[in-house]
Amino acid sequence: MYYRTNPVSNQKISLLGFGAMRFPTTEDGKIDRPRAEEMLDQAYKAGINYFDTAYMYHNGESQDFLGEVMKKYPRESFYITNKMPVWMAETKEDIAKIFEDQLKRCQVEYFDYYLIHAMSADRIPIVKELEVYEYLSQMKAEGKIRQLGFSFHDSPEVLEEICSSWSFDFAQIQLNYLDWEYQRAKEQYEVLCKHHLPCVVMEPVRGGALAKLPEDVSALLKAKNPDASTASWAIRFAAGLENVMTVLSGMSDDVQVADNLKTMNDFKPLSEEEQNVLQEALALYRKNNLIPCTACRYCIDCPVSIVIPDIFRIYNNYKISGNVKGFLNDLKETEGCDSSACLTCGACSSKCPQHIDIPEELAKIRELADSLQ
Ligand code: SF4
Ligand code: SF4
Repeated sequence: MYYRTNPVSNQKISLLGFGAMRFPTTEDGKIDRPRAEEMLDQAYKAGINYFDTAYMYHNGESQDFLGEVMKKYPRESFYITNKMPVWMAETKEDIAKIFEDQLKRCQVEYFDYYLIHAMSADRIPIVKELEVYEYLSQMKAEGKIRQLGFSFHDSPEVLEEICSSWSFDFAQIQLNYLDWEYQRAKEQYEVLCKHHLPCVVMEPVRGGALAKLPEDVSALLKAKNPDASTASWAIRFAAGLENVMTVLSGMSDDVQVADNLKTMNDFKPLSEEEQNVLQEALALYRKNNLIPCTACRYCIDCPVSIVIPDIFRIYNNYKISGNVKGFLNDLKETEGCDSSACLTCGACSSKCPQHIDIPEELAKIRELADSLQ
């Protein structure tokens, strides 16, 4: 495993981190615990020492599960993170309750890394009003948090405002070769460098989208390096940036764990030639007009139970494969994928960190499906 030293804490962090938000699940939607535990064991034994969960991952089950599995290992041999979902709190007391609850559920006395979850311009007033930073700083002073940071979904300008207003130890941003310009990740990364904040990368493979590329794009990468998986290009792109402390991958089966470990055990940043090939691949990828959904599921509580990320996944698969029958069948057979009841209320779009105009995209997909019937 390749490690980087956190310049703030001097800790040796595995450059590949384990994101505990996309474990395999059973038919009832719960984490498939035996399979997921094997994946965590496989990762830990291979040297991954950074494990990232959050209150809402797997509807709250991720933090309990991660704590349960990791307690068999010496506490000082791994770093565990968790995040404060400020949108779930109405009072300062709620913030304290959530934090104490998280310590219990993860079965730890302290979090090595703790973040204010999904900071954005809209969340800054809540953080101020509920004095979240002040409370978490107090927890840090008491030793219940070792490094305090935030995860982020907004513009570089808002990131600059946050970095200038508070004194955090690190930050987590969405960074991958597609979002480098598309979501201004390059500028966000530069803001963190300017403020000397170590960068934790989330969504390096964009929710799996950069692992499953359209055939022409994938062929370009394969021609350059037949043995490398498409996901490895994305991981190496993010990990090659010097100020990146760890790259979180939300792995969902043991094959993905093994592939990522292979990439990181013998890590090499992309060469200039490979960067050029990636730029060509990116230009081709953009022509496919895929919906930039990362399957984060923040939009999942639709009032008419439309399962938006599943519809976008089915649509993107169709754009990649061209399989009309499969597209129509998946839309029909998958629960929550009939979007004809959409109220166009926009509640989903306001929660989408990718700023997707969800009702509009759903309408386009419906029209496409109707025309292909
Ligand atoms: S706009 Fe449609 S899909 Fe989005 S929350 Fe409202 S009803 Fe659900
Ligand atoms: S549509 Fe947006 S909020 Fe919903 S899962 Fe996709 S990226 Fe997340």
